[in-house]
Amino acid sequence: MSLRDVGFFVRGRINAGLSRALNRRRAAPPAAPAPLGQVLAGPCAPHALLGLLAGRANDEREAAVAAWLRARGVPFARHRFETFEGRGENFVVEVGSGDRVLVLIAHHDAVPGSPGANDNAAAVAILLSLLPRLGRLAPPGLRVRLLFTACEELGYLGARAYVRDTPLGGIAGVLSLELCGIGDSLAVWDAAAPTPFRARVTGALEGLGLRADEGYHVVGRIPVFGSDHRAFAGAGVPAYGLTIVPLREADALRRFVLSPGRSVLMHLVRRPPPFDTYHTSGDAAATIHPAALDRVSRALEAIVAAA
Ligand SMILES: [Zn+2]
Repeated sequence: MSLRDVGFFVRGRINAGLSRALNRRRAAPPAAPAPLGQVLAGPCAPHALLGLLAGRANDEREAAVAAWLRARGVPFARHRFETFEGRGENFVVEVGSGDRVLVLIAHHDAVPGSPGANDNAAAVAILLSLLPRLGRLAPPGLRVRLLFTACEELGYLGARAYVRDTPLGGIAGVLSLELCGIGDSLAVWDAAAPTPFRARVTGALEGLGLRADEGYHVVGRIPVFGSDHRAFAGAGVPAYGLTIVPLREADALRRFVLSPGRSVLMHLVRRPPPFDTYHTSGDAAATIHPAALDRVSRALEAIVAAA
């Protein structure tokens, strides 16, 4: 286990412990998850697909992703892992052909006690609903790999296991979708250094008419939060987080996510949306904005076409 892995592991434990403590304080009765059969037979649209994972336990969430892919006849690969930190299964779907690979990640697990709607059922729903259009969107020579990871909440364990077990040659860039269901302004984060991939991503967003610091934000390394892309970044691949946030909260969010000491205190007091429900029992499907899901979907379509 490398020093980096030790860091990820400790971070995962703190994360889970803090969530348990927060969720003990808030005892809202959880909404029942949508019947799985209904979601599997329902429309292939992000808002309808929220119910695939939201409100379910982690083993059910994992099984639900595989069940949806099977029900739609989508070929996928399974990547199973087990370490002393935990175990789970990542699912991999590839669309298109070519040597260059764009990796889009959405983790399917949630922290204990949270319905996990914005973190991260929304992101899984967005990627699944994108699938039928991906073949048309991907330019020649580009393969798009959708990676649905397990155990992100355990220090990115699923993504680390995937990076350990998989050759990474040809990967042009990685985006990990996190908190994609509340807000109107996109954030590409952990993206301090300019790279050709970052330029393609921001170019695609500009092409949609979005403007820097309004429609989208490019943010440097975030000390307190993280996501699966960090496992790839650690291996030298350009890899960023992709999130949507309310523009009116942009200043509060910047203060919140960029100053760790302050964040820990605010964790216990007032957290700006979307962090007010993050890792809590309040992260329910009812809080998700359909317009946010659609905005992230359109951004991804443009990013795939420009990658
Ligand atoms: Zn997450």
